Amino acid sequence: MLICRFAVGEDIWFGAVDGLDDDDQVTDESIVAPIEGHPFVDIRPEGSVMKLADVRLLAPVIPSKIVCVGKNYREHAAEMDSEAPDEPLLFLKPSTAVIGSGDPIDLPWQSEQVEHEGELAVVIGRMCKDIPIDRVDEVVFGYTCANDVTARDLQKSDGQWARAKGFDTFCPLGPWIQTELSPADADITVRVNGEQRQHGGIDAMVHDVPAVVSYVSSCMTLLPGDVILTGTPEGVGPLTDGDLVSIGISGIGTLTNPVRSAAP
Ligand code: MG
Repeated sequence: MLICRFAVGEDIWFGAVDGLDDDDQVTDESIVAPIEGHPFVDIRPEGSVMKLADVRLLAPVIPSKIVCVGKNYREHAAEMDSEAPDEPLLFLKPSTAVIGSGDPIDLPWQSEQVEHEGELAVVIGRMCKDIPIDRVDEVVFGYTCANDVTARDLQKSDGQWARAKGFDTFCPLGPWIQTELSPADADITVRVNGEQRQHGGIDAMVHDVPAVVSYVSSCMTLLPGDVILTGTPEGVGPLTDGDLVSIGISGIGTLTNPVRSAAP
């Protein structure tokens, strides 16, 4: 099932999306059925149906924290002149970096090298700690697309990554959550202005989804709605004012964001 969060006027709803085409893209036939209450508790249709084109999509979840894995694909680690670490390399993005599909990514004046990193995002559905690998399925609500937007120059000059990864708008999530994805069978494609920049199978991850979720939960309590970004394949590259960047994952859909210069 595809679960989105959307606005109609002043009202905000969760809803179930249906009627995408075979490539998980929105068509004139695509609809959204609003859900009563919160989907982590119970997916209960409210009864009405709207055209997806008539609503404004929001980030599908508001996480308390976003935990990210660095260098989780060997080819990407290599393009960073590095190697994939033996254990997942964790860092955090602030919840204030989250935006939804269609919202603009603001290029901060402090950086001259902002780059895209298309990633599979895991959405946690239950509070958990110390989850064994074979029980990770019980705490995963679903999956969405993410862009781990990174100020590459600041990542290098700062020596640690809080600023480079943490600017407002640097964590696009969406367009919705797929609750039935088998991540190892999915692939990810990043395009900038329609030109393919990144493409790879999710199965090329060094540490797979169960290993990553279990590892993160051995360190910190995960809350419902928390998001884990699982790393990016090779091909990261620059974003500039006026670009349109899209992260597509088979079985989910496509997260698309315009890029603009932020006012100093
Ligand atoms: Mg990343």
